[in-house]
Amino acid sequence: MHPWQRGQRDAAPAKLHPEWYGDPLPPFNLPTASPTAGMLVSPSPDSFQVRYHPDGGLFVGDQVSIEVIAPADWELQEREVSAHVFGASQASLGTAKFERFGIGRRRQATFYWAWDTSAWQPGEYEIQFSLIPTGTVWRQQLELQDASLLPPPEPQARWATTESDCCNIYYITGTAAERDLEKLVELVDTQAAQASQSLQVSLDEPVAVVFLSRVLGHGGFASQEVSLSYLDRNYAGTNPGLILHHELIHILDHRSGGIFRPSVFVEGLAVYLSGGHFKPEPLLPRAAALIEPGWYLPLETLLDDFYNTQHEIGYLQAGALVEFMVNTWGWEAFSNFYRNIPLPLQSQNEKESFELALQQHFSLSIAELEQLFLDHLAEIASPTDYRQDVRLTVDYYDTVRRYQQAYDPSAYFLSAWMLDGQQLRQRGIVADYLRTPQSMENLALELMLAQAGSDLQQAEFVSLQQLLEAVNLTIAAAEQGMQYPFGVHPLARDYFQIAQMLTIQGYQVQRIHLQGDQALVWVSQPYPQLLELELARHADGWMLMKISS
Ligand SMILES: [Zn+2]
Repeated sequence: MHPWQRGQRDAAPAKLHPEWYGDPLPPFNLPTASPTAGMLVSPSPDSFQVRYHPDGGLFVGDQVSIEVIAPADWELQEREVSAHVFGASQASLGTAKFERFGIGRRRQATFYWAWDTSAWQPGEYEIQFSLIPTGTVWRQQLELQDASLLPPPEPQARWATTESDCCNIYYITGTAAERDLEKLVELVDTQAAQASQSLQVSLDEPVAVVFLSRVLGHGGFASQEVSLSYLDRNYAGTNPGLILHHELIHILDHRSGGIFRPSVFVEGLAVYLSGGHFKPEPLLPRAAALIEPGWYLPLETLLDDFYNTQHEIGYLQAGALVEFMVNTWGWEAFSNFYRNIPLPLQSQNEKESFELALQQHFSLSIAELEQLFLDHLAEIASPTDYRQDVRLTVDYYDTVRRYQQAYDPSAYFLSAWMLDGQQLRQRGIVADYLRTPQSMENLALELMLAQAGSDLQQAEFVSLQQLLEAVNLTIAAAEQGMQYPFGVHPLARDYFQIAQMLTIQGYQVQRIHLQGDQALVWVSQPYPQLLELELARHADGWMLMKISS
């Protein structure tokens, strides 16, 4: 274990909630959840989870944020928590109100960048939390480590910016995004030009595009800015051009106006105009593949609670529905309808307001629209391998989310640690979008998922299935408390052994591709340059055979 792995990890290993992938201004569009039923009169400290940011251990120089996550049935009104650090020095971190957080509306109090550790000594500290007004008090220990123990590209990493034809591009120095900047600038301009053309919106005002060096959600999101995960070990396995296009559509769609835009259409439009969700895909034939196995989700369900439905199926259906409507009535008629759905009146729910517009523009009820869509899907011949592809896409992203919930909870889309990018840059903070949980378990699981993601993009289904089985069995074994969970599957064991061996030798491992008794491995050396290694399996383990740059 490396020095930087000794730091505090999340006190509790995560038992969470659902995910997100990027609609414009996500948390703000969502309906407020219904009032809570239960209430803990004397809450036990054990019922609260505390998470510190940046992830992956705290180091001198960090601007530390803290999430205090309340029990799911806790009454939030007028509740606060205060935090105080004790140790060689001490300081009050102030108080934070319990509020709803993220797309999943989790109940928590959040201290944003409340503890500036720049002038603090490394060592053990205690944080005391006090609930207001109940007076419940508890303390947690944490370690503040010496900044010299940070792996590259920290602690030198800084925000940097460059202008392209369409956009202001922000990235962190010393990362894969800086290494590949020229290519990324071109990619951003190409995707923005295409998005602007398909929505017929000019790009007069530059869009801010931010490259993150960690996975958050499914690798992309849009608010006022487009944010895209770009890193060598991207375990959400995405296609950067397609995700960029999707998020740029959200920004331009938002700029094009509209009154009430239901999430299913916001996302459907982005998927349709991008020609796929996570990869280029024929939307209607793939949606047709949902019918026979019974995976199709009723339109009413998608209208009611889009982000909590099965993510990949919801997005696929949404994109296919938009394609169907555009094919049937033309782009202009669809666009007129979409931009003119009235805001729900107080006495109406969102579905009624949507149905009103549907009646006005197409003389259809929701049920009639859905029947037309289903009739159309029934006529489409869907090759049987589409079903396998769709099922494995669902399995892959379900597994990514399962990993996030258990090992990288700040990345899980429903409660992801997504911040105001402008503020981060003004404060000069990179660690929140760069550092991640650093245990060997995280590394080995991410390496398996990154390879699985590449297999999904390349339609290498046999290898994909084996990797997903290995990851799921490993996580299940860890949940059962098994001491060496990677021992449950030969692939998991290989990935763990190779990752561990190379980490001990001082490499940051980014990708592993196993081929029987051979392994091709890409490591950062020096960071972020990639070096290719060839390994071979011997009787007593894996051996490094060849290094080539
Ligand atoms: Zn989206």
